[in-house]
Amino acid sequence: MLSLGSNLGDRAAHLRSALARLGPAIVAVSPVFQTPPWGPVEQDDFLNIIAIASDDDADADDWLLRAQACEQAAGRVREVRWGPRTLDVDIVTVVDGGRPVRSDDPVLTLPHPRAFERAFVLVPWLALDPGASLPGHGSVADLVGHLDPLERDGVRLREDVQL
Ligand code: ATP
Ligand code: CA
Ligand code: CA
Repeated sequence: MLSLGSNLGDRAAHLRSALARLGPAIVAVSPVFQTPPWGPVEQDDFLNIIAIASDDDADADDWLLRAQACEQAAGRVREVRWGPRTLDVDIVTVVDGGRPVRSDDPVLTLPHPRAFERAFVLVPWLALDPGASLPGHGSVADLVGHLDPLERDGVRLREDVQL
């Protein structure tokens, strides 16, 4: 499962291009949500989606490489940490042989260590798959229920944005 976000330039176009680049591996995409930025840096709102991807030929490392290729194609430059970006693609979970992959490697930590507390991941995920669960953390519905209501309600459905 991938989480994609953009808050710089033509945000919808960046998300659209990433989905096109990932191609037939993308099996389902959430609606688009708009999310206020998080952290210390002043910046525009994000557009966020989550996407379910499946490809028998790709392992977890391949997904990270594909995610980074999408970011590079969107011209992402790394300036300040958690600053504005044309495109951010995070790997939230990988299932291999029916089991969730677990990794503490800082290059690719799985499941993504901050996904369980991020409204902009959990709210779109619940919209796409009400029965989803995050390995190690339980059902996405429960995780959404435990979010700070202000943060949860800050993630707004953008029905007008089609990818
Ligand atoms: P956050 O991870 O808190 O969302 P970020 O997305 O802004 O922060 P980046 O600058 O995009 O952070 O990535 C920093 C590093 O995180 C990358 O170089 C990548 O190797 C590493 N990383 C570790 N686990 C993952 C993961 N599950 N998905 C994507 N990148 C990861
Ligand atoms: Ca991220
Ligand atoms: Ca990232």
